[in-house]
Amino acid sequence: MTQNFEIAVFEGDGIGPEITAPTVEILKKLAAQSGGYTLSFTDAPAGAAHYAKTGESLPKTSLDAARAADAILLSAMGLPDVRYPDGTEISPQIELRKILDLFAGVRPVTVRAGQMGPLTLPEGRDIDFVLIRESTEGLFYSQGAGEVTEDEARETLRITRKTSEKLFKFAFNLAQNRKDQGRSKGEVTCVDKANVFRAFAFFRALFDAEAKKHPELTANHAYVDATALWMVQKPWDFDVMVTENMFGDILSDLGAGLMGGLGLAPSADIGEDHAVFQPCHGSAPDIAGQGLANPFAMILSAAMMLDWLGTTHNNAALLADGKRLREAVEGIVSSGTGLTRDLGGSAGTADAAKSVEAALFTPASTAAAS
Ligand code: NAD
Repeated sequence: MTQNFEIAVFEGDGIGPEITAPTVEILKKLAAQSGGYTLSFTDAPAGAAHYAKTGESLPKTSLDAARAADAILLSAMGLPDVRYPDGTEISPQIELRKILDLFAGVRPVTVRAGQMGPLTLPEGRDIDFVLIRESTEGLFYSQGAGEVTEDEARETLRITRKTSEKLFKFAFNLAQNRKDQGRSKGEVTCVDKANVFRAFAFFRALFDAEAKKHPELTANHAYVDATALWMVQKPWDFDVMVTENMFGDILSDLGAGLMGGLGLAPSADIGEDHAVFQPCHGSAPDIAGQGLANPFAMILSAAMMLDWLGTTHNNAALLADGKRLREAVEGIVSSGTGLTRDLGGSAGTADAAKSVEAALFTPASTAAAS
């Protein structure tokens, strides 16, 4: 029987609706062509504009839709001019991470031959690694509750056995999936500062315990400072990296930089029961409403969603379409044509999305996929 999957869609603020509409359109066409699964979409209003209009940033109906869905697709939320009375910004995407216990922030970094970027890749080398950022504790644990006196300020870094065990299990499973797909060598690197901090020695010991359960995969350690160096000097050597929240926050922007910018950086926030897929960028209010936004990070996030649904529900058609969608975008980026302004081209949002559709659904590409 064909499996149906419910997708909750947060179209969000700023450029959000502009990049969400073509992404959902592509997903609908892929599902219609596949025959191996169907998708249903539920709109979930939330964000800064919704707060300005209604006084609610994350309505209960939208949260209920997220909870009930098989996966959540989210663009970006927040507008610098719309704030709560305490001066902070509206950010339901961060609330969702906490409410749904999305402990694994997954940030793939992919640079294919021909793709413009800050590094010149050696002949025959691609960059294809995944950074996993723990997203519920670490140095973000005391967010909003740090102690500040006249003379001193303190924040608390928290590493728990419970979350770390789930995180490392997730990291090794992801490495195994990538290895099974022939995408990588099957290596997990624990990125820490275990030479200085006891909390990171604890983190590393828990990593080593999980590594013992995966003798077919290679487990490595690296200090975070050296990792930053190697991400620039030899990024093609990495496969799956797993790290604490703050280290991951910083290294994931370095990863986005390697790809040539935020317009190509997808992400997922994954827990045991729920997962949110969203681009790394924000709502880009400076270009909103002009048809200039790059939809690729959003479309690549949708490809990650298909891949994750395919893996968790053992659905080969979803896995195939996730790969097909990712490769369609990568092909356009490598070709250097049909790119949006942020990538040095002149295409608008609609043109860029149409290029992806053409790559997926023109007769030649359809024949290649079947
Ligand atoms: P931003 O990512 O929105 O924009 C930074 C720069 O990148 C801008 O010049 C923007 O035009 C450009 N840019 C971003 N995405 C682009 C795209 N798809 N195509 C072309 N150009 C793109 O970051 P910001 O300006 O610091 O934040 C704007 C708002 O977004 C703020 O309210 C912030 O809180 C929010 N925000 C939300 C998220 C999220 O929802 N995950 C993440 C970051 C920022």
